[in-house]
Amino acid sequence: MHEFLKCDMIEFDEAYKIVIDAVGVLGKEIIMLENSPGRILAEDLISDMPMPPFDKAAVDGYACRMEDLAGELKVIEIIKAGVEPKLEVTSGNCSKVMTGGVVPKGADIVIMVEHTKLMAEKRVKFIEEKSNTNICYLGEDVSKGQTVLHRGTLIRPQEIAVMASVGCVEVPVFKQAIVGVISTGDELVEPNITPEASQIRNSNASQLMAQVSECGAKPQYFGIAKDTEISTREIITNALANSDVVLLTGGVSMGDFDYVPKVLNDLGIEIQFKSIAVQPGRPTVFGLKDGKYLFGLPGNPVSSFVQFELLVKPMLYALMGHRLNSPILTLPMGEVFARRKTKRKSFIPVQIKSGKVHAVEYHGSAHIHSYIFADGMIAVEKGIAKLEKGEMVDVRPI
Ligand code: AMP
Ligand code: MG
Repeated sequence: MHEFLKCDMIEFDEAYKIVIDAVGVLGKEIIMLENSPGRILAEDLISDMPMPPFDKAAVDGYACRMEDLAGELKVIEIIKAGVEPKLEVTSGNCSKVMTGGVVPKGADIVIMVEHTKLMAEKRVKFIEEKSNTNICYLGEDVSKGQTVLHRGTLIRPQEIAVMASVGCVEVPVFKQAIVGVISTGDELVEPNITPEASQIRNSNASQLMAQVSECGAKPQYFGIAKDTEISTREIITNALANSDVVLLTGGVSMGDFDYVPKVLNDLGIEIQFKSIAVQPGRPTVFGLKDGKYLFGLPGNPVSSFVQFELLVKPMLYALMGHRLNSPILTLPMGEVFARRKTKRKSFIPVQIKSGKVHAVEYHGSAHIHSYIFADGMIAVEKGIAKLEKGEMVDVRPI
């Protein structure tokens, strides 16, 4: 066995901890609000005003006093949204107000138009038994000076709305990680080429770059390293010089031409682990050098996909200042699942149908096509050979 691979296999949880503990946070920059979806907020955001900023009508209706609901009410003003009321509502009177308009002084309820009857001489009558107040009160959602978003928040459309509502048009965010992607292998041709008999298309690079983009980081492709020491060294050196994180796939196993381990040693990369007790993805390497991070992922497309999900994704988010808490769905198995080998924790692609979990037909770590049917993955723990029908399992959406 290659010297490099002789070290102990570590458990997945230990590998995860090593990766997360090793990560620092990148610097900050200011970007425009419209460019911020998918980025991570780098400072707490404080509201510059209460919300709503005034007592606001929640419906189109008549603003009046609750104690006057029994009698007819005279309409004294029509209040459009965006216009301040001129008159105070007094006994026996009301003001017609549009949704989003300011509730006038003196009124403590807005009765819906649908709950009223128009009478003669600009009068209305409440015709229901009961009514909500239909007022959104000043500051009931947010008070002035309140922290509306915390540093480290992943910015989604709803956070964009919150930022817009407090006037944050220049957003402080953490810098995007630049992630260099390298494939290795003499058998690989790029996807635009028709492979010859002994060749296959390089699917890992496209897959990894898409996964990197989905995390809000910036992928950068460095090409296919040939299975030679020179080519492997050249491409890794170039990628390390120009990226925060380098992801390479393949070449980390025990093949006669797997030069990655030797090159990583020669380049002085401090290897943190080289083998995880997990399937797929046992030969996963993680190393550090001068504030840069390198993952050597297995060449098989499923292994590379799964290890990205499990390790690289939380690491990239951590690097960009966000603690990823992937939601887990706990659901029953739709049928029995059995496996023969139980030495490693194993991740299985699953589909969710009518609230039940079904294992997707899966031929092993080269079978990336199986993953197009997968809604998520489940972990089958070391030593476990069987999951019963109806047994509750944790599904990690992908
Ligand atoms: P390796 O880890 O280099 O021994 O590769 C393991 C398996 O994954 C082999 O069958 C490779 O042909 C395949 N493989 C390696 N790299 C890629 C890639 N970039 N795209 C698709 N398959 C790959
Ligand atoms: Mg190879």
